[in-house]
Amino acid sequence: MRIGFIGLGNMGAPMAANLAKAGHAVIGFDMAEVSVDGVTMAGSATECAAGAEVVITMLPNGAILRSVAADIIPEMTKGATLVDCSTVDVDSARAVATDAESAGLLAVDAPVSGGVGGASAGTLTFMAGGSEAAFAKAAPLFEIMGQKAVHCGEAGAGQAAKICNNMILGVTMIATCEAFALADKLGLDRQKMFDVVSTSSGYSWTMNAYCPAPGVGPQSPADNGYQPGFAADLMLKDLRLSQQAAESADADTPMGQLAQALYAQFVENEDGKGRDFSAMLPRFENRGRE
Ligand code: NAD
Repeated sequence: MRIGFIGLGNMGAPMAANLAKAGHAVIGFDMAEVSVDGVTMAGSATECAAGAEVVITMLPNGAILRSVAADIIPEMTKGATLVDCSTVDVDSARAVATDAESAGLLAVDAPVSGGVGGASAGTLTFMAGGSEAAFAKAAPLFEIMGQKAVHCGEAGAGQAAKICNNMILGVTMIATCEAFALADKLGLDRQKMFDVVSTSSGYSWTMNAYCPAPGVGPQSPADNGYQPGFAADLMLKDLRLSQQAAESADADTPMGQLAQALYAQFVENEDGKGRDFSAMLPRFENRGRE
């Protein structure tokens, strides 16, 4: 299959490489000068998209997605499929799908979970929104790039699932970090705290699989000086998307709102920028000592 791939950054490059490795003809484009194993580079997004059966985008945000989509949709072959894997706001995902469908294309929003490690290993989880026909067209490619793809509903449903998942993740990470900081104050050993909570009703992915306390639980960014991993800035972006969605859907999300405010404070006014999102733990420790 001829596949156009636009946005070959930390995530897009290994995803495109896996498609090429599986035998597809992958034509890539990125604003930055990049080269990816097995991928032929095009001179522009429109050149990349023209003649492709499927075009995949993996871009930083909704504004950039909308602008790239406006350029490529008129160039794409009727009946071709546009698959956006970026994490963007639900409104942008729906707007791009509507424009694509009006131009005679199929469209899927399919954000991912699994990070750069999952993108390289081909073990991402895709959460997809769009018609049955659009999902069916993209599914064999999800199988190459990932280990699971869930068809969540119509256009925007993939982004909705991603945003809800990451709102839980942000809130839970904060709860786990503040509990560790409280345990410290109460004189409780961190390993004992982990041993109890990881097998009790307070357990969570943030405690059991991505523990924010160095030297405790499985290897995580905490054991690597809080190098991301999943950067606090990206968590802030996703929490903002969740609150934008909550506002537009008139949903009450007080914990999501608090998590957004705390990550904004951490990234914009403290030392959170460029650190892993689990660096909330040293943040709580330090504040306690002030
Ligand atoms: P990145 O910044 O490494 O890659 C984005 C790429 O898009 C860059 O190479 C950039 O040059 C390119 N780009 C920007 N504007 C462009 C344009 N107009 N035309 C063509 N290329 C353009 O980001 P990333 O980490 O690869 O993330 C991409 C998306 O995936 C984001 O939406 C992010 O939220 C999401 N995501 C990231 C992770 C992660 O762990 N990094 C995990 C899940 C989802």
